[in-house]
Amino acid sequence: MKLLLIEDVPPLAQLTREALEAEGFTVDHAPDLEAARAILSVAPPDVIVLDLGLPDGDGLDLLHGLRNAGNGIPVLVVTARAGLNDRIDGLDRGADDYIVKPAAPAEIAARCRALLRRPGGVLGRKLQLGNLAFDTASRSVTAAGRPVALARREIDVLEVLLRKLGQSVPRRVIEDAIYTLDEAPGPNALEASVSRLRRQLAEAGANVEIHTIRGIGYLITEAGGA
Ligand code: CA
Repeated sequence: MKLLLIEDVPPLAQLTREALEAEGFTVDHAPDLEAARAILSVAPPDVIVLDLGLPDGDGLDLLHGLRNAGNGIPVLVVTARAGLNDRIDGLDRGADDYIVKPAAPAEIAARCRALLRRPGGVLGRKLQLGNLAFDTASRSVTAAGRPVALARREIDVLEVLLRKLGQSVPRRVIEDAIYTLDEAPGPNALEASVSRLRRQLAEAGANVEIHTIRGIGYLITEAGGA
């Protein structure tokens, strides 16, 4: 799940980013509105965590602009503005949820997951294919009910493929979902992750197959399926 964290205080941004990454989010960080707009134009996230007091303006203006443009991406506002009117104003201007600082990163993560599970959100709690189950809250994977230990990157790849079940997923879409903008994966990094994932799923007895679609990307199916 790709998350855009908009927060101008470096230590707080760093702490929040690390905690959200530990919770399984792929995090891009913007320290101001200009950087946020730049990221939104090239790598739209699944959810935005938005601070309001930013060096080049008010986060609510960004939010208002998104909603005016018909962009319904879930936005969690995290701010020191604690007044009732501030909260009402934020929600009225299109925030999906509002949390007052100091906010525990674990709560920020939980609220983001809740937003993503809403109808129309991208996050169902459980993704299932054959005997393989993926719990998006705990980010745990089981095959025939037994836990499958996978590294973070392999879990990310599996999640993208399961969310696009029945579709060939272009490499670029997978890479955009699993790498942050400041990561520079080598040309074979994704192949390496996919082959580790295939091997580990096979060893765990998962009856799924990850097909390479030449020139496009990957497709996951139940074993024996097309
Ligand atoms: Ca701030």
